[in-house]
Amino acid sequence: MTTSHTPGVRLNTMRTHRSSADSLRHLSPVDLAKKSAMWAVKDAIRDGKMTKPDTCEFDNDDCSGRIEGHHDDYTKPLDVRWLCATHHHRLHAALRRGEAFPNPQHRSVTPW
Ligand SMILES: [Zn+2]
Ligand SMILES: [Zn+2]
Repeated sequence: MTTSHTPGVRLNTMRTHRSSADSLRHLSPVDLAKKSAMWAVKDAIRDGKMTKPDTCEFDNDDCSGRIEGHHDDYTKPLDVRWLCATHHHRLHAALRRGEAFPNPQHRSVTPW
């Protein structure tokens, strides 16, 4: 009688590539919300539900860089504002200082 002790070969234990879920595990809930909001926008653009403008909301002489989407609220992923890299950067700097978001409609009030 031969007792063949075949070790169970489990194919599943060997992962050849990391799934995207794996790479998301390290993200904080905020980053995850940010990412999924960005994906929602990407999908909406791809599906023709939304168009990405090629001008910044502020559209003034300071504008430079590519147009980026900004979310005031990540729980509303399709509520996105489009700003050039410069204004997007300034917006986040203002938010960090606890300033209110300058609205382009009130451009005369803000030095942006
Ligand atoms: Zn701009
Ligand atoms: Zn932003």
